[in-house]
Amino acid sequence: MAFIGRALRINLDTASTSTFDIPSPIRELYLGGRGLTAGLMYHFVPPDTAVRSPDNPLLLAPGVLAGTPAYATGGFVATTRSPLTGNLIHSWAVGDWGAALKRAGFDAVWVVGQATAWLYAVIDNGQAELYPANHLNGLDTQQINDALMAEHGADARVLTLGQAGEKMLPYAALVAEGRYLAEPAGTGMVMALKRLKAIVVRGTRMVKPADTANFLSSFKPITERIDRDPLATAIRDYGSSYYVDLAANHGAITGRNGQDPEPSVMPTTGDYAGEIYDRGCPRCPLPCYHDFATTNQPRPEIEAIVGFGARCGLQSPAAIIEANQRCLRYGLDPNATANAIAFLMECRQRELTRQYDLQWGDEAAILAAIDAIATKQGIGGLLSLGVYEMSQVFYGSEQFAPLANNLTISPLDPRAAQGWALHLATSSIGGDARGAMPWYEWLDTIPQWLKGNDDHQPNVVNGKPERLIWHERFVAGLDSAGICRRLAALAYQITPKELATILSADIGKSVSPTDLAKVGERIITVERLLALQWGHSDDLSTRWQQQPLTSGIAANQIPTLDTLLTKYYALHGWDSDGIPTNARLAELSIPEPDSRPWVTE
Ligand code: SF4
Repeated sequence: MAFIGRALRINLDTASTSTFDIPSPIRELYLGGRGLTAGLMYHFVPPDTAVRSPDNPLLLAPGVLAGTPAYATGGFVATTRSPLTGNLIHSWAVGDWGAALKRAGFDAVWVVGQATAWLYAVIDNGQAELYPANHLNGLDTQQINDALMAEHGADARVLTLGQAGEKMLPYAALVAEGRYLAEPAGTGMVMALKRLKAIVVRGTRMVKPADTANFLSSFKPITERIDRDPLATAIRDYGSSYYVDLAANHGAITGRNGQDPEPSVMPTTGDYAGEIYDRGCPRCPLPCYHDFATTNQPRPEIEAIVGFGARCGLQSPAAIIEANQRCLRYGLDPNATANAIAFLMECRQRELTRQYDLQWGDEAAILAAIDAIATKQGIGGLLSLGVYEMSQVFYGSEQFAPLANNLTISPLDPRAAQGWALHLATSSIGGDARGAMPWYEWLDTIPQWLKGNDDHQPNVVNGKPERLIWHERFVAGLDSAGICRRLAALAYQITPKELATILSADIGKSVSPTDLAKVGERIITVERLLALQWGHSDDLSTRWQQQPLTSGIAANQIPTLDTLLTKYYALHGWDSDGIPTNARLAELSIPEPDSRPWVTE
């Protein structure tokens, strides 16, 4: 059964739990996962809900396919209004926590209120209870995971905060199963504000697709392709670090907070090979997460490699691996952490502050800064504010702050790629590329189903709005169906037609690729409306939009945002200011913002 139709409400004000039925129009229009949480936010959460209010909900939802026997469907999306940006945020994590929630009998969890002391929730096959969490204080995410599994069983799946959440850091992250970060940042602090330390889920009732035989057989061509496809092999071998060298080939790896066109020394994709063992998600034929066999440390993803490597100047892979592991243990978003450190380094270089001794590439100082951030001590008090708040402290620093809509931008330099820049500027969650995953620009050869009449290379303008919208719709559909973004978008191993076939077999109703694209467009549109109501504007800060690199492969390039935006708005059916028109909303069955029927007064 694709939809259970039931959500769990956890109210920390009263330390109680209850269930409610998810209205069927919401399920039909938005599916599950990211779509469901966006739909719930748009229809049920009053626009004036303050970020730090106990009423600001944290919504957690796996996709429609979660809990079935299919691989790559166990992740979940966490959605809220972010204390880091003041705007919409949805974080996504892989693993098995989402599948366990579905098997426990829930399509979503809605968390509100604020407890007087730290609590954690246990959801066990349809039942839910809250317990004191004082014994977890001071532990890191791995320790909390191990402690709660010891208490609740090896088949329990744990979602938790670490010390960063305990200290109410705005870029604290949620960590699932002690290993999978929910990124980008923003959702962790909301759970912390509610004083909810962790959510343990135990779900043992496998979800049965409507047509099991067709459902399972629809994965066969995907599994066969993964076995022979070179990009799948590369992602299986290197994870997202495979894209480091590809992006460097186009001048997108820039050093010292984007000042250096090409960092002279920076670890490359090959530096993250070595003896590794796979820690991919259950049954996945493309296990793309790994630990190093000798140290047991996780291999960093591209955000940590480029963030701590190029942006902060760390030259040793071992130091980057250590920085990444500390972020995971503390429950810190590596991209936000690395960008905060790089930004403060440049403030110091420009003598906007002399108070802190933080030099480019200083291993000991960078690792100490991560410890200080998580404990909010010394330099960590300032760094823990995040880039946006720091840019308000240091006069004149806004122009080089690595931000779009108050969120730290993804690590590849938007000056090197027109489509990437358009996505960072327009993404409804701020400057993170994971809303649409437009990785195709860095590839030498793109998948057959993406081929068009234009050149896909990063410096080409023509065709980029069309390609971004394709990715937006596809990834929103994926996130709502619940298939892993890394398998389907980072590695490009699922086509829209295959996704529609899988979904049809699961829900027992024919879904076409066009239907899915419409669901994706609907999700993108409500996310846009939510973002606009909380102050979004399509923009990048000055350095990343107006100041071209003076040398290197991407020299003299800047994003042509005006041209790109005009086309992008028109293709979406939005007006010339980027606001979805009423006609477009009617086509997508979205109520106008002022006439949302289900908003509570
Ligand atoms: S592709 Fe990677 S992240 Fe996705 S399900 Fe497989 S192992 Fe997990």
